[in-house]
Amino acid sequence: MGIHMQILIAILLGIKRNWHIFFGLIAGIIVGILFPSDSYPLINKVLNFIGQGFINIIQMVVIPLVISAIVIGVSNIGDNKQLAKFGKKMIFYYLIITTVAVTIGAVLALIFKPGLGAQSFINPDVAQQLQGFVASAIAEQKANMAGMFLDMIPKNPFNSLGQGQMIPIIIFVLTFAIALAKVGEINRPVVSFFESIFAATMKVTDWIMYLAAPGIFALTASSVGSFGIEMFNGVWKYFLVITLGLAIQFFVTYPLLMKIFSKVPVGKLYTAITEAIMVAFGTASSSATLPLTITCCEKRGISNKICSFVLPLGATLNMDGTALVQTVAVIFLAQTYGIELSLALIVQIAVLAMIASSTSAGIPGAGLITIALVLNGIGLTPEQLVVGFSFLFALERLADMMRTTLNVASDAVVAAIIADNENEINYDLLNSTDGYKDIV
Ligand code: ASP
Repeated sequence: MGIHMQILIAILLGIKRNWHIFFGLIAGIIVGILFPSDSYPLINKVLNFIGQGFINIIQMVVIPLVISAIVIGVSNIGDNKQLAKFGKKMIFYYLIITTVAVTIGAVLALIFKPGLGAQSFINPDVAQQLQGFVASAIAEQKANMAGMFLDMIPKNPFNSLGQGQMIPIIIFVLTFAIALAKVGEINRPVVSFFESIFAATMKVTDWIMYLAAPGIFALTASSVGSFGIEMFNGVWKYFLVITLGLAIQFFVTYPLLMKIFSKVPVGKLYTAITEAIMVAFGTASSSATLPLTITCCEKRGISNKICSFVLPLGATLNMDGTALVQTVAVIFLAQTYGIELSLALIVQIAVLAMIASSTSAGIPGAGLITIALVLNGIGLTPEQLVVGFSFLFALERLADMMRTTLNVASDAVVAAIIADNENEINYDLLNSTDGYKDIV
């Protein structure tokens, strides 16, 4: 082996593994651009296969992790008053973050008007293909508004487990965990059982993270490769608006919230969760990233008590990035079709986006399905909706990767703020960048 090769390998092995993920991401973007799926379908298929495999592997630990984390978290918190306090704080911060997100989305969409002039780019073929999908998504949302809430109650928790429905699982586990905390000492065998499961799933997560760099590489390359640049016509302004909105949320809103409500240093927290952020971007799934979000936050100073309560709930319910994108998307479509937007309608869109986003599962593309709920109100004809969806589809994967990054980052931000408020954060660990172990 040549000396250059040896040096390169030595460098790659020597650097921190979160840099590996970063290189995977960059290499993925480059390979995706060099090998577009239209011209190299086989390469794209292979990359997609590897990427999907990686997502499946991390998803494998999500359910045991969520269950064990919540049982331990709640039973650690123990007394009801403290649990209610944590719960109220969590809801309060998640609500603030999502309200700010939809407000930013609405204001930017109204200022920059991304939908004006977009109509001439409508592609009738794509629109045609999407007909079935949109019709069924809208019909389902309409028929099922009440059913959607009923479905959150797990009639048969094992069924929900089998189908991986996170909200019913969480409702059941939370109830069960609160009961366990109430029954006192007799809960020890069950809690110890879940402590073992939690420890083992964290171990498995450590192993899986060895696959993060190739996994993120493959996922990014296959998404970038399937992204036709011509899709940008007509939607580039929409893309800029969501990018700007998400950036404001990340660089202004979160730091401000941390400053106002805690003394958590923003830079340190963002450094601590770098790996989770990159994995969120690559996988476009908050649930799949959850094991890593918990690992990053916990190993870097936020107590298990907070992490195991706030993060699993956040990964399922707190989707501020999704809410922001949904708000912009719906206003974009209204502008495209020249629909007059009164203040009341804009508020309605924003509120529905908050609800729709939190009912989105933490999986790729979920936000594009629940957006049907928000679209219901704006008075588009079914044909217009179908065509509109073809716009949103053009950018979907990229938009999903970006909004998921925010969904995950805000979970960690809220966990850190609550941990600070409750004295549940080890600042020595958070502040000493060289003190903590490489997570992956
Ligand atoms: N992919 C997002 C997430 O997992 C949900 C969405 O589609 O907006 O957080």
